[in-house]
Amino acid sequence: MKIQVIGSGNLWGEYNSASYLIDDNILVDIPNGTCKALNRQGISYENIKNVLITHFHGDHYFDMPFFILFKKKIDCPDINIYCAINGEKKIRRLYKLAFPHSYHRIFKTMNVSFFSKEFFSINDKYEIERVLVDHGSFKPAYGYIIKYDNKKIGFTGDTTLCDGLEYMMRNCDYVFGECTFKKATAKHMGADLLEIIIKKYPNCKYVASHMADDTRKYLKKLKLKNVIIPKDGEIFEI
Ligand SMILES: [Zn+2]
Ligand SMILES: [Zn+2]
Repeated sequence: MKIQVIGSGNLWGEYNSASYLIDDNILVDIPNGTCKALNRQGISYENIKNVLITHFHGDHYFDMPFFILFKKKIDCPDINIYCAINGEKKIRRLYKLAFPHSYHRIFKTMNVSFFSKEFFSINDKYEIERVLVDHGSFKPAYGYIIKYDNKKIGFTGDTTLCDGLEYMMRNCDYVFGECTFKKATAKHMGADLLEIIIKKYPNCKYVASHMADDTRKYLKKLKLKNVIIPKDGEIFEI
């Protein structure tokens, strides 16, 4: 699998908000600034047909109206969105707020489909499992495990240390996982808990993401074994 890190930052910092592109086809989260980041990284929208959304905070889905419009512009109407059960309502409402006059026309002419399943496959190629994680009072928050070609890659979305995150680390070769702060909170992972948990699952490599700028600097200094600090635009062939 080719995984391109579109963004590895959190909402506040200088890096793009956390999002990933798998084999030029599947986006994991579509936060603020995703379309601009895709343009800067020279990625064509043509092949991106599937979007997995971890949860409905703005820094994980607010670029969806722009994405739908861009797909319309290049005459690629098919978009499959995998998300929580209430996602269709949220995305339609967001689009309507962004572009009220084109809402009906766009949703009539575009083929936007919504799915909310625990287990599903994409293109009969990728087996995907949705994993419940703990993002404090915000519910539901999901991570995803994508399995292909005997490799399992996890994407945590926003989470603190929880059973779901440990399940991903226990089962995956790589986890693209959040590490927002130096110290974990009830909503977000931190370098302090990552340092402990990475030793418990020595077969898992953790690509840190959703990092605040000072956390990124701190993690670089810590140099934890099996923890990778990616740059935006970096490509992993796994
Ligand atoms: Zn969040
Ligand atoms: Zn977030």
